[in-house]
Formats: sequence, structure tokens, C-alpha cells
Amino acid sequence: MKACLLRAPAAVETNPLEFTDVPAPRPAAGEVLVRINYCGVCRTDLHVVEGELARRKSPVIPGPQVVGTVEGSGEGASRFQRGARVGIAWLHHTDGTCRYCRSGAENLCDDPSFTGWTVDGGYAEWIVAPESFVYPIPDAFRDEQAAPLLCAGITTYAPLRRYVTPGRKIAVVGLGGLGHMGVKIGKAMGAHVTVLSHSPGKRDDALRLGADAFIATGDEGVFEKYAKRFDFILDTVSARHDYNDYLGLLRRDGTMVLVGVAEPTLLSAAPLIMQRRTLGGSLIGGIRETQEMLDFCAKHDVAADVEVIPIQKVNEAYERMLRNDVRYRFVIDIASLKQG
Ligand code: NAP
Repeated sequence: MKACLLRAPAAVETNPLEFTDVPAPRPAAGEVLVRINYCGVCRTDLHVVEGELARRKSPVIPGPQVVGTVEGSGEGASRFQRGARVGIAWLHHTDGTCRYCRSGAENLCDDPSFTGWTVDGGYAEWIVAPESFVYPIPDAFRDEQAAPLLCAGITTYAPLRRYVTPGRKIAVVGLGGLGHMGVKIGKAMGAHVTVLSHSPGKRDDALRLGADAFIATGDEGVFEKYAKRFDFILDTVSARHDYNDYLGLLRRDGTMVLVGVAEPTLLSAAPLIMQRRTLGGSLIGGIRETQEMLDFCAKHDVAADVEVIPIQKVNEAYERMLRNDVRYRFVIDIASLKQG
């Protein structure tokens, strides 16, 4: 089959992905074979490409957010009929036996395998995955809108579901792939949502996406002006920034959850201690939670804003992501792979 392959950590500017032919995968027992229609492009793909996240598989086919059609099943796999429209997310499979798997928190498994990172992903014509890690896609979505939900959707839904109740004042830091889903899902949960962005030009977009307010974090005195405003902050930023500043925006007992994979920065105890604030993190979501997110988004008419690209533009898309030039998720039309 035709696929895009990543051989070694490389700078994005060197066009690290290579088009090639590789053997098509065959479904093992309990797996389904999926013909891929669309695959989303996440900022995490760049962390993988550039070697910030170590790979257990090399070379690897990147691509964690897959939507396609079931074309076959391995022995004992009977959950999906041929022709079913399905999705495959970051979580490709887990050990199934640890206490996290047994409690429905497969995302916290001691030995997880991630699509497009530690096992082959969706920049290809075909993919296989265990049927229990494959999601039926609700009719409400087009394929290309659904793909980012399997990454940006679940990553923002999981912490918002834990911390947000109607009327709570929340802030989403960074209006990118994750951030724009955080805004939409936060609004659908009934929160008052403010976007904190280092790009003043995103104000109109933030309000169009449903945010109640927008704050440009580069403006003078913002962190003093908005101190103690929010009950909850979801931080999606992928670059180094000062967490201490953002913690100061939380009210007493407020919580900030990091989902963006940013470079390390110094953390002071004072903003946490003084107002009894909490800083935490969150990683995608478990199987049940991911299906719940798809159903929630379908019910509330929440989908991703996407720019569909042919796979020949994937290296260019990586460069544009680095320049913060994406509104708000690139999604690859895998049919373009046939054009070579
Ligand atoms: P993205 O589309 O590139 O968005 C990141 C946003 O961060 C940008 O839109 C920008 O928002 C802000 N930003 C970028 N550079 C910045 C800088 N130098 N200073 C301040 N803000 C900056 O990326 P994404 O796909 O949403 O992914 C975001 C992060 O989440 C990545 O690190 C990714 O690896 C991680 N991630 C984590 C999980 C998880 O399970 N925890 C899952 C998927 C992805 P503004 O222009 O509005 O400031």
C-alpha cells in the first residue's frame, strides 16, 4: 500500500516524511482492517517527528486521528460489519490487564501503544486495530470533521468533563487544534469561556467559535488585571510559557490542567499555596470516555473546524503548524495518496 513514512527524528524544515510503498497490514485475531478516508494532523506529530517523544517503532507511519471504513476482520472480531464508518484514536491498544485498563482508564495504562507514534498510524491507505479500540462514528459528522475529535476532542473533553459545571468561569489557553475544541466543548457544557491567546489576531475567531471573551496575553498588565478570575484553566499551549502567571488567574481552590506538551519551565510554590490552587495534567481519554465524547459532540452539534489537504502537502502543513498558521486542524484526504 502507499504510505507516508518517518524514518528518524528530523527538523520539520527538511521535509521529514517520505512517500513509499509498504506491505498492507492484515488483521490479526480480534482486529479490524480499516480503509482510511481521512487522518488528522496534530501538533504532537511534530513532537514525534522532531524526536521530543521517543518512538518504540522506527520507521513509523505517523497519524493518530483516523476515520475510515471497515473492510475486514480478523478471527473472532465480530463487532463491526463490513462498510461500517469508524474511527481510531491515539490509543491503539493497551495491556488490558493493569488496574487502569480494568477501571476504564486505558489511557493511563502502564504499557500503552499509540497510533502513529509507537505503532503505525493513518498517513496510509490501510490500518488495523483491535476492535475494542475502534469507535463507531455518529452520522452527525462528516469524516473529516470527526477525525480531530479523536484527538483534540477527547483531550479537551476529558478534563472539562471532570471540572466544568454550568456557569463556571473557565479559560482556555492557546487557540489551536485543542484550544478551539476546548472552547466549543466548554460552551456546550454550559461554562462561561474566555480564550487566553498570545495571538491578538485570533479575537474574532475566538468569539465566532463561541467564546464569551478574549484576552490577548501580550497586553500590558493582563495578568494583574485578570487575577483570580477563573475557576478552571485548560492550558493547551505547545511552547514554553510561564505557568506561574496563569496560575495567578485562578480563584481560590481553582484548578489548572495542562494538556499541551510544553518545554520545562520553573514553577513557584507561591501561587499554588497562597490560594490553595491545584495544577494537574491530562492525557487523551479512555475507551468509554472517547465514545461518550463522540456522542456528546454529536448531540450538541460540536465538530472541528478543519482545513482538508492532500497528503502531498503534509510537510508544508507541518511548517505552517510551526508558524501558528492553521485554522484549526489540518486533515489529510487519504484518497490523494493514490496520486503518488
Ligand atoms: P496547535 O494547533 O499548534 O495549537 C497550539 C497553540 O498554542 C497555538 O495555536 C497557540 O495559540 C499556542 N502557542 C503556540 N506557540 C506559542 C508560544 N510560543 N507562546 C504561547 N502560545 C503559543 O497544537 P495542538 O494540536 O492544539 O496541540 C497542542 C499541544 O497539545 C501540543 O503540545 C500537543 O502535543 C499536545 N497534545 C496533548 C495531548 C494530551 O493528551 N495531553 C493530546 C494531543 C495533543 P495562540 O495563538 O492562541 O496563543
